[in-house]
Amino acid sequence: MNCDFRIGNGYDVHRLAPGLKLTLGGVEIPHTKGCVAHSDGDVMIHALCDALLGALALGDIGRHFPDTSDEFKGIDSKILLRRTCDMVQQKGWHLVNADITLLLQAPKIAPYVPQMRACLASVMGVAEDAVSVKATTTERLGFTGREEGVEAYASVLVCRD
Ligand code: MG
Repeated sequence: MNCDFRIGNGYDVHRLAPGLKLTLGGVEIPHTKGCVAHSDGDVMIHALCDALLGALALGDIGRHFPDTSDEFKGIDSKILLRRTCDMVQQKGWHLVNADITLLLQAPKIAPYVPQMRACLASVMGVAEDAVSVKATTTERLGFTGREEGVEAYASVLVCRD
């Protein structure tokens, strides 16, 4: 049995502002506020990319997709995720599973979770049951609780091919 595994974790945060699109886990969610970002501000995907890069000690998302580059201005984060998975594959590894926790006060995320899992699994080329998405409020505490921002944590396990 091949037991060459690595784990990675990632974290991201974006500020929320009125009138912007809210895209989380690759899914556009109707809301009065959206993420302020150089890209589409998808915190869940950004945390996931950092977890994948971290598993293989490849640096962080800012190193590979700098927010100073016009190439990434307004970019769909699904493209960044696909490119990150390509890097993992080129190194001879594949994703076993990913577990993402989203922290935001509003709106309720539960109705969108199945769509997020399907979307992320499809972009990464894994089964839906290998992608977990969880969401929690912060009980109105901190910047997330005041609806000033949104945060995400991601953990991944990767296995050598
Ligand atoms: Mg980000």
